[in-house]
Amino acid sequence: MQSAHLALVSETKSSRELHRLTDVHSSAVRSRNMSAIRAKDTRPEMLIRQGLHKRGLRFRLHVGRLPGSPDLVLPKYRTVIFVHGCFWHGHGCHLFKLPKTRTEFWSTKIDANVRRDIIAQEELSALGWRIGIVWECALKGKCKIPLDALLDQLVGWLDTPGASTLELTGGSVERVSVT
Ligand code: ZN
Repeated sequence: MQSAHLALVSETKSSRELHRLTDVHSSAVRSRNMSAIRAKDTRPEMLIRQGLHKRGLRFRLHVGRLPGSPDLVLPKYRTVIFVHGCFWHGHGCHLFKLPKTRTEFWSTKIDANVRRDIIAQEELSALGWRIGIVWECALKGKCKIPLDALLDQLVGWLDTPGASTLELTGGSVERVSVT
């Protein structure tokens, strides 16, 4: 997993106080921004959903009872698929850029998300689920993989018993680990 290394910057008491006040004033704006970023049914996710559906695969969406609330769940294949936004999930790719304002807030937030993702993946593995991760940069931007090629890889992996994980990132980088 190519997670960005996010340094946690230590705060002085006064800057914490300042942030607390800023938080109060901007919380409405921030929660709106964050809900936009975390929105379900994002375009990359829709591309994957439509593509897999066209190829005859059936799945459930956003299954909250599973660790990490996977975007797609394919019970028949005992497989979950996450479509990760590169910013929100701290991908170390060209799409990831920490905002110049409130950098520390975002750094802390994203670092927590990355840790949560790792824990969710460990729990899913322990429960016997296969895990596919499609990063946003595989679907958009200068390094994107042609959609058909990406779907070929995904479907090929689904049909490979024993291939426990697949991670698709921009630039056709494929990593399959077989256990
Ligand atoms: Zn990325």
